[in-house]
Amino acid sequence: MLIETVQLKKHFTLGRGQILHAVDGVSIAIEENEILGLVGESGSGKSTFGKALIGLHARTSGEAFYNGELLPARFSPKDHLHYSRELQMIFQDPYSSLNPRMTVLEIIGEGLRIQGQHSKSQIRDQVADWLSKVGLHADHMSRYPHEFSGGQRQRIGIARAMIIGPKFVVCDEPISALDVSVQAQIINLLEELKQSMGLTLLFIAHDLSMVRYVSDRMAVMYLGTLVETGPADDVFFEPKHPYTQLLIESNPEPDPKLERTRPHIPIKGEITSPINMKPGCRFADRCPKVMEHCKTVTPAVTSLSDNHTVSCHLYQ
Ligand code: SF4
Repeated sequence: MLIETVQLKKHFTLGRGQILHAVDGVSIAIEENEILGLVGESGSGKSTFGKALIGLHARTSGEAFYNGELLPARFSPKDHLHYSRELQMIFQDPYSSLNPRMTVLEIIGEGLRIQGQHSKSQIRDQVADWLSKVGLHADHMSRYPHEFSGGQRQRIGIARAMIIGPKFVVCDEPISALDVSVQAQIINLLEELKQSMGLTLLFIAHDLSMVRYVSDRMAVMYLGTLVETGPADDVFFEPKHPYTQLLIESNPEPDPKLERTRPHIPIKGEITSPINMKPGCRFADRCPKVMEHCKTVTPAVTSLSDNHTVSCHLYQ
């Protein structure tokens, strides 16, 4: 197992004794060279989990392992330097994630420069190499982020993450800010890099069809907890948890003809606030199959098969 978490929690303390349970006990394992897709609505805690996994947020409790090694709960600057060689992140917004005052050479080469093991000309050569790998040109090196389109900026973000040669990359909604026509190009690029570099990816997104296409396995997150995990096709075509079922039914069908004819069952209401959570199923106030005890008893994780799990009283 390359990545493993055990009951990982990330809480934020707000004013007046309020606690925001952004991630509330996530246990998951990702095998080497696997893509795990993590889906859920905005506010479900997906990005916070990705950041806590690679030390960009300090963990409140629980454990996270990389290659069997326990990662520190709070990364020191030295830990960041050490683990950035192995653990990287591609951010959602290619517009705000690149420093507008830095050239492309400075942005992509920054990780190598911080490591202090490469000369200026070696960094320049490697940046030129990576620009070509991500479909840009060496003469883009002296330009600034505002001179590029959204898709090109995401390519720069990908080169910045990959130049270090990481083993595990969190892709945090890497395509959601891009035009549909560019999304497929970025997905293909990530898949090529995964193959050529032997990468393991956590692919965070809310487009379920895209996640199914990209991922080996899928995990569904709701209000800081995982409600279902399994092989991507099993979860997509035979969802068990009522939330996964509704999420898939409300996911737009890529074929406009099918999209017009199929039934639409929207998920009722908004995701509730993750502040001061109480026991019980977190989906209870929106679930069409809710039972009385769902409101007070937290469902345990049930294994439906070797690698398909669900947290719902219907299966217990
Ligand atoms: Fe619905 Fe109850 Fe299952 Fe929660 S535990 S998803 S409320 S049936």
